[in-house]
Amino acid sequence: MADITVIGSNMYELTTFVDRMPVEGETVEAPEFEMGFGGKGANQAIAAARLGSQVNFITMVGRDEFGRQQLENYRSNGISSDGIGIADGSSGVAPIFVDTSGDNRILIVKGANKQLTPAALDDKKDLIKGSKLVVLQQEIALETNYHAIELAEGYGVPVLLNPAPANDDLNIDYVSRVAFFAPNETELATLTGMPTGTLDEIKAAARNLVRRGVGNLIVTMGGKGALWVSADQELLVPAVTVEAVDTTGAGDAFIGSFAHYYTQGEDVPTALGHANRYAAISVTRRGTQKAYPTAAELNDLLL
Ligand code: ADP
Repeated sequence: MADITVIGSNMYELTTFVDRMPVEGETVEAPEFEMGFGGKGANQAIAAARLGSQVNFITMVGRDEFGRQQLENYRSNGISSDGIGIADGSSGVAPIFVDTSGDNRILIVKGANKQLTPAALDDKKDLIKGSKLVVLQQEIALETNYHAIELAEGYGVPVLLNPAPANDDLNIDYVSRVAFFAPNETELATLTGMPTGTLDEIKAAARNLVRRGVGNLIVTMGGKGALWVSADQELLVPAVTVEAVDTTGAGDAFIGSFAHYYTQGEDVPTALGHANRYAAISVTRRGTQKAYPTAAELNDLLL
C-alpha cells in the first residue's frame, strides 16, 4: 500500500541549447542537446520517492521509446508500475529551446497524457484506497482531477491540489473540497482575479479562498518561501537562502517533498520548512528531476 498516490502528467524533455533562435524558414546549428524526464506529476512523484515515500503514480505513457524510458525511470526510483498505463500513440514530449541568455521557447505535446481520462482513472482507482494523500496538478484534464477528488473523498483520502499550470476554468466547488490547495503567486492571482504582487495582497487573496471553503492554502512564493493560511491562522515559512542556478521544477520539488514529510507524520509548519529546504537545493542545480536529491544525499548537505 502506498503512502502517496500522485495522479498526473509525464513528459520527456528534449532541450536544445541555441546561440540564437532560428527565424522562419531558417536552419541554425545548435551547440548542445539534452534529454530529461519531466512533467509536473512525474516530478512530484520522483521527489517524494527519492525521499523514501512509497509512491503510486497514476499516469499514461505512449507505446514508444520515450514511454519505455519513462517506465525504467520510475522503476529505478522505486515507484510502483501499477498505476502506469500504456496508451497507443506518442508519449508526452516537450521540445525546449534555450538561448544563451536563458530565455526559452517550449512546445508541449501532451500525447498519452490526454488519455488519462476519468474512465482510465477508474481502472486504477483501487490504488487510491489506503493512501495517506492524493496529489494532483493541472497538466491533465480538469475532469480527471474532479473525478480523482470524488474518488479520494469516497475513500476518505485527503487531496493536495497544485493548480499548475494555472487554468481559469478550475471549478471553485472542487477547490473547496481538497485538504490542501497549493498555488504559486501567479496561479493564486489567476484563480481569484486578485493581485498577488505583495505579501499583503497574497494574504488577502489566500483569505478569499479560505472564506470560500479551502481548508489549507499553501502559497509558494519563490525566493520568499511559502505561506500557509487556514481559517484560524497564517504562517510565513521563509525560504532557505541559496545561489539559484535553475529554478525550473522548484515548485514540483516543493510539492513532492511536502507530500513526503506531511505523510510521514510531520505537522504542516515542519513539513513546509523541510520542503523549502528540499526545493532550495533543487534550484542550486541545473535540470528538473536530476536536480532532486535523495534522502541519503540530503543528510550530506549542510543547507
Ligand atoms: P514555481 O516553480 O511553481 O514557480 P516557486 O517559484 O514558488 O514555484 O518555488 C517553489 C519553492 O521553491 C519556493 O516556495 C521555495 O521553497 C523554493 N524556491 C524557489 N526559488 C527559490 C530561490 N531563489 N531560493 C530559495 N528557494 C527557492
